[in-house]
Amino acid sequence: MPNKIQAIRGMHDILPERSALWQHLEEKARNLLDRYGYRELRTPLVEVTELFKRSIGEVTDIVEKEMYSFADRGGDKLALRPEGTASCVRAAIEHGLLEQPQRLWYCGPMFRRERPQRGRYRQFHQIGVEVFGLEGPDIDLELILMTRQFWRMLGLDNLRLEINSLGDAHERALYRDDLSAYLSSHSERLDGDSLKRLSTNPLRVLDSKNPAMQQLIADAPSLLDCLGEATRTHFTNLCSGLDSAGIPYQINQRLVRGLDYYNRTVFEWISDDLGAQGTVCAGGRYDGLVSQLGGRPTPAVGFAMGLERLIELIDPGHIDSGPDAYLVAVGERAQAAAPLLADRLREQMPKLRLLCHCGGGSFKSQFKKADRSGSQIALVLGDAELDQNSVGLKPLRHDGEQRTVAFEALHEILPRILAERGSETSASESSIGEAGIRAE
Ligand code: ATP
Ligand code: MG
Repeated sequence: MPNKIQAIRGMHDILPERSALWQHLEEKARNLLDRYGYRELRTPLVEVTELFKRSIGEVTDIVEKEMYSFADRGGDKLALRPEGTASCVRAAIEHGLLEQPQRLWYCGPMFRRERPQRGRYRQFHQIGVEVFGLEGPDIDLELILMTRQFWRMLGLDNLRLEINSLGDAHERALYRDDLSAYLSSHSERLDGDSLKRLSTNPLRVLDSKNPAMQQLIADAPSLLDCLGEATRTHFTNLCSGLDSAGIPYQINQRLVRGLDYYNRTVFEWISDDLGAQGTVCAGGRYDGLVSQLGGRPTPAVGFAMGLERLIELIDPGHIDSGPDAYLVAVGERAQAAAPLLADRLREQMPKLRLLCHCGGGSFKSQFKKADRSGSQIALVLGDAELDQNSVGLKPLRHDGEQRTVAFEALHEILPRILAERGSETSASESSIGEAGIRAE
């Protein structure tokens, strides 16, 4: 026997019994984004490596250690996207989308060669939002309100919000000096990575996940002390917006984010139910990135949510993925007619989820399959029923005798029964015709 090929470590299949949950999450997000006026942007999974180096930053975990980069057969240096913002900015510049404000979103897989562990995978999925051309704290607030709305839609009431301001480029340069001086005076307490970062990108030291470094980081000088008038006002306006909206938040001065392009507002939504990888949504402003990538200066702000972490928090209990009805067909003529009847019913009841048995078999074995499918109802078609233009209807998830229902009554009766069971099938408009369902 040839040996089996397995999926790559840290990259996971999403199996059918879990995909209903993913669809539920994605549908809710699409609905939310649509209601707030955001439009989807789809970009390729592969970009030139240079794009990520120039945006995320050369001295970041992502670019230094985590990117899947390779030379293609023509020798071009390419990378699987580790995040979505850089691609959105590239596309927005390339297609001239920045003439007016844009509210955009994207959804899809991202790739980072991290050490696989709970909440950290090598292929993971994000839904992200990017807004271009709006510079005030009002749009920062809109993003946070929108995410809070999303948590409500998902029934997540246990997330906390942390915010910070990273200042603008000038303020950060001032802070960088303060921080470098502080870290240099404690260089004996820095780990290898942080020592290197001290000379290349000292702010990154604050993002260290090394427990031994946390006290040193906690005692570091504060960036908020270096903020000028305009940045301070932006931040306090955002804070008072959050206060008015009744959103509790914590100002976390060590929140710097793992990517270089952020400035001013940064925020994270964190769950304490996920272990070490608790951040489910992270974002902030990146007013300098568009011009850094060759576009005309354009303010920007966005966030990305990690879907694997959100999925872990959602209660799968109420998400039902079985069909509404399962059509059992016994007898030669009934078996031939069943797919046609099923199709007619689906046409009449556009929301009906109907599984039509294929492959024949005894009544008993088909009924067992109907039950196992998770279906609410079994519809039974035998040659005798077919001759009377009717089916047997048997509830599977609650008590009830099998009864006979005429084809033409199904579009009224089925939705009613399913609605009683909490299924979403809608009533149909037209009644069933008798022609066309008999196999000649
Ligand atoms: P973290 O500090 O958790 O590593 P990050 O700063 O690298 O996060 P971002 O690049 O801002 O994260 O990504 C936004 C969100 O995407 C994260 O908050 C998280 O929910 C999710 N995410 C990031 N990396 C991974 C990963 N390797 N596996 C699963 N989800 C991830
Ligand atoms: Mg990371």
